Order: sequence, then C-alpha cells, then structure tokens
Amino acid sequence: MTDQETTPEELDQYRLAVREFIAERGPKVPFRAGTRSPETPEQQQVLRRWTAELFAAQYAGASWPEEYGGLGGQDSDKHRVVAEELARAHVPELPGAIGLASTALLDFGTDEQRAKYLPKMRSGEQIWCQLFSEPGAGSDLAGMRTSAVLDGDHYVVNGQKVWTTNGHWSDMGYLLARTNPSVPKHKGISAFMLDMRSPGVTVRPLREITGTSDFNEVFFDDVRVPAENLIGSPGQGWAIANSSLGRERSGVAATVVVLRQYWASLWSRLRRTPAGTGTLADQADVQQRMADLYARVETLAAVVEASLERNHAGRAKPQDAAINKLFFSEVYTALAYAGIELLGSTAVFNEGDPDCVDDGLWQDFFLYCRVYTVAGGSSEIMRNVIAERGLGLPR
Ligand SMILES: Cc1cc2nc3c(=O)[nH]c(=O)nc-3n(C[C@H](O)[C@H](O)[C@H](O)COP(=O)(O)OP(=O)(O)OC[C@H]3O[C@@H](n4cnc5c(N)ncnc54)[C@H](O)[C@@H]3O)c2cc1C
Repeated sequence: MTDQETTPEELDQYRLAVREFIAERGPKVPFRAGTRSPETPEQQQVLRRWTAELFAAQYAGASWPEEYGGLGGQDSDKHRVVAEELARAHVPELPGAIGLASTALLDFGTDEQRAKYLPKMRSGEQIWCQLFSEPGAGSDLAGMRTSAVLDGDHYVVNGQKVWTTNGHWSDMGYLLARTNPSVPKHKGISAFMLDMRSPGVTVRPLREITGTSDFNEVFFDDVRVPAENLIGSPGQGWAIANSSLGRERSGVAATVVVLRQYWASLWSRLRRTPAGTGTLADQADVQQRMADLYARVETLAAVVEASLERNHAGRAKPQDAAINKLFFSEVYTALAYAGIELLGSTAVFNEGDPDCVDDGLWQDFFLYCRVYTVAGGSSEIMRNVIAERGLGLPR
C-alpha cells in the first residue's frame, strides 16, 4: 500500500486534533506504563470503549478498506502522530493483538472472515490475544509443538502457549499451530482464529515480579476449531505471522516520547530530592549520569528519525527495526536503573506506601524494564539480525 503525503502544516493540525481528542475522550482510569494488561474489569470495560472510540475517530484502522470502516489509505506520518500523542498522554493504544490479527485477516483472510470479525474489533466487542510463543519456542518460534489436526470440518488443537498478554480477558486468539509435522518446520505451521471460550481452553494467569498479571499460560486439550477459522491456506502460517509482525511499526517513534518523559521526570524528582545542602541534582556524579542518559535518548531519537525517513522513502534497511528496538530497550533499562540508584531508598517503595514518591513509579519502572529486552524478540536475537541481515556476517 502506498503512503499518502501530508504537509507539515496539516500534520501540526492533525496533532492538535489528536491531542484534543485524547484530552476529551481518553480513559480517565489510570493504567500502568508499558504493554500492560488492564488489572480490573472496570479497566477492561474502559479499554473496550476506548478501542471503539479510536476506530470511530479513524485514529485506529484508518488504513483499512472503506468497506470495513477505514479510509482505505495508509499515512504513516499520521499513524506516528497518534502513537506519539497516546504515549505523551499515558493513554493505552489498541489493547491486545487487534493490530496483528486484523492485519492477518486483511492480508490473508476471506471476505466472509473479514466481514465477520473486523466490525467486532472496531467496536471493542472482541479483544484478541496473540497465541504464538510456547515454553520451548520463543526465539525459535518455528519450533512450536502445538498441533492442529484436521478431523472432518474441524481442527483439533492440543498443546500449550505461554506469555499470552491479555489472554485472561481476550475473546479471540490469533493462533499458530503445527498442521503438518512431516515438512520442514517453517512450512508446517498454520494460522487460526480461536474462540478463547471454546471447551478445552484453559487460561492460567502468571504472577509477575511487578505484582501484576499481564500474561498467561494457555493450554489446549482437544479444542475443536472450525476449519473455516483457518486464515489463508494450510502451511501458510509462518508467512502470515511474519507479514503481520513486520507491519507493527507504530511504536517506534512513541518510544522516544516515553524515554524523554522518563528522563524529564527523573530530573525533576532529583531536583526536588534534598541531599547535603542542596539537592541530588546539584551533585556532579548525578549530573554526569543524567547528561549521559540525555545524550543516549537524543541519539536514539536521531537514529529512529533516520530509519523512519528511510522507510518513508521505501529504502528501509533490514537492520533498522532491530537497531531501534535494541537501542530503545538498552536506554530504557539504563534509565530505570538510574532511577533506583540515584534516588535510593525513596524510590523503592510501592505505590500506596506513605513513603513512596511519584506513586511508586521508579520501583515499578525498574522491575518492569527487562520486558523490552525480551518481548518482541530478545536483545541477542536483535544483535543476530543486525549482524546477519544487516552486516552480512555468517550465522
Ligand atoms: C512482556 C512480554 C509479553 C509477551 N507477549 C506475548 C504474547 O502476547 N504472545 C506471544 O506469543 N508471545 C509473547 N511474548 C513472548 C516473546 O515473544 C518471547 O519471550 C520472545 O520471543 C523470547 O522467547 P523466549 O521467552 O522463549 O526465550 P528463549 O527463546 O528461550 O531465549 C532465552 C535466552 O536465549 C537467548 N537466545 C535464544 N536463541 C538465541 C540465538 N539464536 N542466539 C543468541 N541467543 C539466543 C535469548 O536471547 C534469551 O536470552 C511476550 C514476552 C514478554 C516479555
């Protein structure tokens, strides 16, 4: 799909409109930072409504064909502005795997499948989760063992997934399963839409170090999935998954917004934390560390900008996304460590503790920061991608 051109003036207007929209209609219920699941039924309801609002305003799904409620064109500048403004306002993006699953349906689904599922994504009626990773298949996703065996007009699914973000409140799952064990591993995988309330599906939330449960284990015991829920053709699952994962670019520029905000919050807190006769911000070693972090955030901003420009011009390099992701996760982790180490004991109290500062932000940030070195491809895998696809080094 070709990208539409938007002038800088139009984009400024658009940004103001998005900002106003978020201020007026955005969820007022607080959400934790990061790719978190809503913690209460109230938050879940809020996210369903917010999903519908984003789609109705064309701040989500604008690139969908008109017959499915979109505008039928892609404008990556506008897409970027929306992601940045959501991050700036600390308001969640579309929950779960709606973005991934809709892309799979738009690119590979049938007209019947699109007509049945896309409107329910738009209305927030159906929240989706991504059922890809398994205990023995994360980085080596193609090694997955969950099987789907055709039995009449159904596939019978057995196996286990893990890390399933939002699985505990999702209505549908975008599932990858092995339909042919006799061919090379990438070729025997198929993609399905799975009703999470089907008999034989067990979802077990995992308790994390942050005290929350964002992701889950999901078990399948003889789960019968209608054959009409296959996306594309049997064995096409690997191509479908790669195509939908490859189009998940919206977060890149927003990550810079997030890092700048964290840096500014930390600096502000340091300036208000007494130390000696002044504040922590007056100390030379603190200033050195904050200056170094500032330089790293701004370097990332420049790297991201350059990669977005290349992408816009159709000259994206195969290592671009991996460099952005690796660099972001490292700066994010460094900032989280700085928060705890520079602020010291005041930073380690939980939200709700009378002695905590900034609602427990620094402790939560620190405990959560490892997420980005793992989710969406680990740092080692990103380095492999940069080395092999970017630099042409041997495997
Ligand atoms: C917060 C979060 C949310 C997630 N949400 C979802 C979700 O909703 N749905 C879903 O399907 N998945 C989800 N994931 C899973 C995520 O995609 C995997 O965690 C990731 O792909 C890594 O796989 P793994 O955890 O199995 O680690 P492994 O692949 O087992 O890796 C373990 C370690 O070995 C290293 N390693 C592995 N292979 C190599 C190699 N070839 N070279 C060098 N080092 C290597 C890794 O870097 C890592 O340090 C989520 C993960 C996180 C952290």
